[in-house]
Amino acid sequence: MTVAYVALGGNEGDRLANLERAVSEMAEHVAVTRLSPIYETEPVGFADQPWFLNAVVAVETELSPQALLVVLQAVELTLGKATPFLNGPRTLDLDLLLFGVEVIDEPELVVPHPRMHERAFVLRPLADVAGDVVHPTLGKAIRELLSELDDQAEVRAWRGSSTVFPTHVEG
Ligand code: ADP
Ligand code: MG
Repeated sequence: MTVAYVALGGNEGDRLANLERAVSEMAEHVAVTRLSPIYETEPVGFADQPWFLNAVVAVETELSPQALLVVLQAVELTLGKATPFLNGPRTLDLDLLLFGVEVIDEPELVVPHPRMHERAFVLRPLADVAGDVVHPTLGKAIRELLSELDDQAEVRAWRGSSTVFPTHVEG
């Protein structure tokens, strides 16, 4: 059994419903053991698009990392089918951040996710569920990577309510 961490993010359609549906679809294949609160985050790159909702979940699985990626891609596709256009933008991005302490560098799968430590919208929710977990190649705890991060993009607590994700503690 391996503990893995998956980042969820989307900025189209019913953003909350998409995150919640992704969790329930994932739960058909793996044990979803922890969920971060949801954050609302400024788009990085192209500013002229809606803000994202981002969260991170911990899962436990007997699957291989490659098989877990296939599950994540199938869930992305399921949610993507809700978009009105063929090959339209995905409503949800699922990234495999960490898979235990494994280090994978394959054409289809790079773990730890190569950009996770540069992105506040990933590290902030990841720190909520895995603050003490040590990044296998950088050798630092997630909490430490977050505190060292120089990402100016805004990441703020999302104040909506979810029946699936925990709410933020005030303060
Ligand atoms: P991004 O997540 O960087 O915005 P995409 O979701 O479009 O970009 O990237 C999907 C591609 O990334 C897939 O072809 C997949 O094989 C590859 N990939 C490599 N490593 C990972 C990972 N750790 N998690 C998710 N996808 C990955
Ligand atoms: Mg992705």
